[in-house]
Amino acid sequence: MLRSILLYLSNKEAPKKIIMGQPLGRRMAARFIAGEELEDGLRVVRRLNAEGFTVTLDLLGESVQGAAEAEAACQAYVRLLDRLAADGLNSHVSLKLTQLGLAIEEGLACRHLNMICECAAKHQNFVRVDMEGSAFTEATLRVFRKVNAPRQVAGIAIQSYLYRSQKDVEELLKGGTRIRLVKGAYQEPPDIAYQRKRDVDRSYARLTETLLGSGIYHAIATHDERLITATQNYARAHNISPERYEFQLLYGIRRDLQRGLLRQGERVRVYVPYGRHWYPYFMRRLAERPANLFFLLRNLFRD
Ligand SMILES: Cc1cc2nc3c(=O)[nH]c(=O)nc-3n(C[C@H](O)[C@H](O)[C@H](O)COP(=O)(O)OP(=O)(O)OC[C@H]3O[C@@H](n4cnc5c(N)ncnc54)[C@H](O)[C@@H]3O)c2cc1C
Repeated sequence: MLRSILLYLSNKEAPKKIIMGQPLGRRMAARFIAGEELEDGLRVVRRLNAEGFTVTLDLLGESVQGAAEAEAACQAYVRLLDRLAADGLNSHVSLKLTQLGLAIEEGLACRHLNMICECAAKHQNFVRVDMEGSAFTEATLRVFRKVNAPRQVAGIAIQSYLYRSQKDVEELLKGGTRIRLVKGAYQEPPDIAYQRKRDVDRSYARLTETLLGSGIYHAIATHDERLITATQNYARAHNISPERYEFQLLYGIRRDLQRGLLRQGERVRVYVPYGRHWYPYFMRRLAERPANLFFLLRNLFRD
């Protein structure tokens, strides 16, 4: 219930103004976001690299409504890839296709993703396409396939809460695609998505086995210790060494677990968001864990 309300509010302007205008809102968001500027993101990458983590940097932004804004996001990603290469940092980039214009025109998102992938190929880097709400699943997969096929410098996120994901995974594996498996962060109806955590987790475990068995390098992206342990057990039982997959976790969430996995010899990539459009990302993180919201409210009233 609370999750639904928070996800509903994540698209609304009024709460956005209140939370983004509150010093406490910004302080809370800082737990999950590297900062508002490129330099903030790069500073965090440098620190995480020094600790042994790899990174994927996300310039926050989504649901862009104007072509100029989509073009600006595309240019920002090209500059980001150039800068990562110039600074010798070990970081991929993650992006959302609605940030590149998918909600305006599919061709626009295609052209922008293509430019970013060309730049990534030049630097031998990698682009991860995040998966958004189900209104964009089909179009995201279509654009991804069209752009990625010639050079394979991109991978895509797949959500275990969607019934369709097993089929999507099987199709993507035929093309050798690298997948990031997530549970899914949006509000989806019961005719297309599992509603109970137990079912989402079961689907996640099944998809993990399909991915690990494929021989392709994938990312298991979760903070769920039970699923992480199940992944490790499956890998061990099938002689799949830790170099053949990686775990991914979000910046600011379960840092103890992130470090623990590194100590166990696992590959760990941290998803680091930065930028000014942090509100929807922040709300999704609150929705995942109501305790975060209660902390925010308690301190709001105290301020
Ligand atoms: C690297 C990465 C990339 C992602 N990319 C996408 C994407 O492209 N599309 C998409 O829909 N979703 C994406 N997600 C989000 C994902 O779908 C889930 O919403 C999110 O990871 C929470 O689910 P969980 O797997 O951690 O399991 P859960 O069962 O939700 O959580 C397991 C445990 O992790 C901790 N935890 C989880 N979330 C939080 C939080 N916000 N604050 C504090 N503790 C928390 C808690 O201890 C919790 O008990 C991504 C997640 C990761 C890690």
